[in-house]
Amino acid sequence: MALAELLQPLLDLLWPPRCVGCRQMGTWLCPECRAKIPLVDGKVCARCGVPCPPGQPCRQCQVDPLHYIDGIRSAAFFKNNPLRPAVHCLKYRGHKAVASILAEFLADTYHRHQLQAQVIVPVPLHASRYRERGYNQSDLLATALGRSLGLPVNRTSLVRIRPTRSQMELTAVERRKNVAKAFDCIDTQLSGQTVLVIDDVCTTGSTLDACAEALKQAGARQVWGLTLARAD
Ligand SMILES: [Zn+2]
Ligand SMILES: [Zn+2]
Repeated sequence: MALAELLQPLLDLLWPPRCVGCRQMGTWLCPECRAKIPLVDGKVCARCGVPCPPGQPCRQCQVDPLHYIDGIRSAAFFKNNPLRPAVHCLKYRGHKAVASILAEFLADTYHRHQLQAQVIVPVPLHASRYRERGYNQSDLLATALGRSLGLPVNRTSLVRIRPTRSQMELTAVERRKNVAKAFDCIDTQLSGQTVLVIDDVCTTGSTLDACAEALKQAGARQVWGLTLARAD
């Protein structure tokens, strides 16, 4: 058990829950702030999951489609609402209680889009980043989602074989280069499976597509991506 995990009850006592959006005490996300998070609902592009009129792929997917992933769905938009501080809290403080709350958004999105996975895989961190941070925020989300959906989580087959720069500061072309061949699937446990890959934020989908490439090379039947936030 990680030290952070042992210390969590003590930390909760010293720093009781405060809403990530408005800082009110007693909860990590109050109902008012939760209601301010804009969901990605309505019609979306069947492939990449951005809002789009029904019937055809979005403009982006027409000119420059993702290659390997069968589809991406995201729960909510990221900008100017309490989801941003919530993701920050998850990413930089590794907060499990916040992960459980945020995984409810993922579970709702999973059901709304009638996704059907056999196994959940978090987007892995490179070993050097993992050592530095002590946890993987996508794994926290995947664990809470797996519990909620009753699905197994595979944390070992997909690995990040080289460190990559943060996608945030890169253009679309740079993002794709940055994550190309960054992942490898090191065994055949996921062969023949429908895999759901979990990440916190999706911008262009290139990270999820690179994961899907590695998973399909190892025999995965279908690979879907599910993210909490969609950068817009
Ligand atoms: Zn609040
Ligand atoms: Zn699209």
